[in-house]
Amino acid sequence: MKPRKRVFIAGLFHETHTFLDGLTCWSDFAVRRGADLLAARGDSSPMGGALDAAEKFGWEVVPGLTAGASPGATVSDDVFHRYWSEFSAALSQAEQQAPLDAVFLVLHGAMTCQSILDVEGTLLQRLAEQLRERPIPVFGVYDLHANFSQRMADHAHCLVAYRQNPHEDARESSVRAATHLDRTLRTGELPRMLLAQPPVMWPPTGTGTATDPMKSLELLARQLEHDHPEFREVNVTAGFSFADTPDTGVSFSVATTGTDAVARGALDQLCQLALEMAEVGNVIERPVDEVLAALPRDVPGVLAIVEPSDNIGGGAPGDCTGLLRAMLAHGFRNSAVCLWDPAAVQVLQSHAPGDHVQLALGGRGSRLDPGPLSLDVELIRLCDGHFSLVDRQSHLASMAGDRFNMGNCAIVRHQGITILLTSCRTPPMDLGQWRHVGLEPADFSFVGIKAAVAHRRAWDTITRGNVWVSTPGPCSSDLTQLPYRRIRRPIYPLDPLPEPRRSTP
Ligand SMILES: [Zn+2]
Repeated sequence: MKPRKRVFIAGLFHETHTFLDGLTCWSDFAVRRGADLLAARGDSSPMGGALDAAEKFGWEVVPGLTAGASPGATVSDDVFHRYWSEFSAALSQAEQQAPLDAVFLVLHGAMTCQSILDVEGTLLQRLAEQLRERPIPVFGVYDLHANFSQRMADHAHCLVAYRQNPHEDARESSVRAATHLDRTLRTGELPRMLLAQPPVMWPPTGTGTATDPMKSLELLARQLEHDHPEFREVNVTAGFSFADTPDTGVSFSVATTGTDAVARGALDQLCQLALEMAEVGNVIERPVDEVLAALPRDVPGVLAIVEPSDNIGGGAPGDCTGLLRAMLAHGFRNSAVCLWDPAAVQVLQSHAPGDHVQLALGGRGSRLDPGPLSLDVELIRLCDGHFSLVDRQSHLASMAGDRFNMGNCAIVRHQGITILLTSCRTPPMDLGQWRHVGLEPADFSFVGIKAAVAHRRAWDTITRGNVWVSTPGPCSSDLTQLPYRRIRRPIYPLDPLPEPRRSTP
C-alpha cells in the first residue's frame, strides 16, 4: 500500500477595512487547533471542504491552526506575530515527526496589519523560506474579495478564488483547490502563479457575479481555462476596496504548468476587459431620501432596501442609523431593520414584553453616523441569538460554517417599524437570523439590509426586488470620498481610466 500523503492544513481569515477606527486584536479571532480544527470536517465552510477532500483523497491531515475574525478594522501587528510563531512551530514539529508532502491554506486574502500591509504575501513568503531546504507544494483557497499581491503569486503554487459573489461556492472552491493539489501529488506536475493587476478597483456593490463586470470576466476566465489545458485555474479576484494598500483592487491570476508567454496573453485579455467595463463596476447608490420618497407603499410583497454604507460583511458596524431615520421620516409602516446594539439589549433584559422604554439606539460604531437615535420603543420579546443556517450554501457559511451566534437579542417596535437588536454584529446573509427569533421577513413590506450584494442569495428568494440607498457610513460605494494614501496610482475611479490601447493594423 502506498504511504498516505501528509498535508499540513491551516487557515487565516480576515477582511480588513483600513478606514475604520480602532484595531482588530487577537481576542477578536476564533482560533482552532488540532482536533478542534479537524472538527470542521463536514461543515459548510471552506475548511470543511478541504478536510472532506483530504479524506476522499486519503491524505493524512496534519492540522496546524486556523484563525478567523469578522470583517473589521486594521489588525494589530501582534496578531500576525502570534499566528506566525504558532504556525511556524507547528510546521517544524510536523516535519520532525515525518516529512510533509504539501501545505494547504484556507485564506481570505485581504488581511492588513498596522505595519504589514500584505499579510498573506508575508505568510506565504515566510512559509517558503521555512520550506527552503525541502520545498513542497503550497496550495490553497481564498475569497474573491482578496487584494492579491505579487508576493502571494511568487510564493504559492496554486491558490484558487471563489467564483461567486454571494459566495455560494466557498466550500466547492476549496474542494477544487484540494483536487488540484491531489493531481500534483499524483503526477508531480507543479504549477506556478502569474499575476496581473489592472489599474481598477470597484466598490463591493460592483462585485456581484450575477451582473457585469464580474459576470463577463468569469465567463472569459472559464473560456481561457477551456482553451488552455495547461491552466489549472484562472482567478478573477474582485478585490476589497476599503483597504488602503498597494495591492488593493481588481486582479487576475493564472496557475499554470505552461509557458509564461501564454499565461501573460490570457491575463492581458482579462485586464483589457476589466478596463473596458471599469465604469460598469463603479456602482454608486442614490441618496436615501430621494429613493424612499419615490417608493410606492402599496405593492404586495417585501422589498429589500439595501444600505451598503453599513455593510456588516464589509466591516461596517451594523449600527448606523441613516436608513432607520429615513424610514421614520418618510412614515414607513410594516417595515423591519436589524441593528447591532448590545447596550440596548442589555437595558431591555430587565423589562417585560409590552413595556415602553426610551432607548438611544445605534450610531456608536462609526463617526460618520449622526449618532444614537433616541426612540420610545415597545418591547415585543427577548430572545437567544444562536441559530442554524437555513441555507448551508449562503454567504454566511463561507465565513461561519453551519451556525451563527447573534448573542442576546431583543425585538422592539416603534411606529410600525420592527427593530431586531443583536448583541453581536450579524451579516444579513441567512434568513435564519429572522426566522429563529420568530419573525418571517416575507411578511414585511420593507426590510432594511446592511449589505452590498452578499445578502442576495438569501433574500432574493423572498423579496420582490432590491433598491440600494446611500446613507452615512464607512462602506459608502463612492470610493473617491475615502482618504487613500498607500494605494498604487493611477487607479480608477481615483484617477481617469487609461486611454484605450490602439489595436495594431
Ligand atoms: Zn468576500
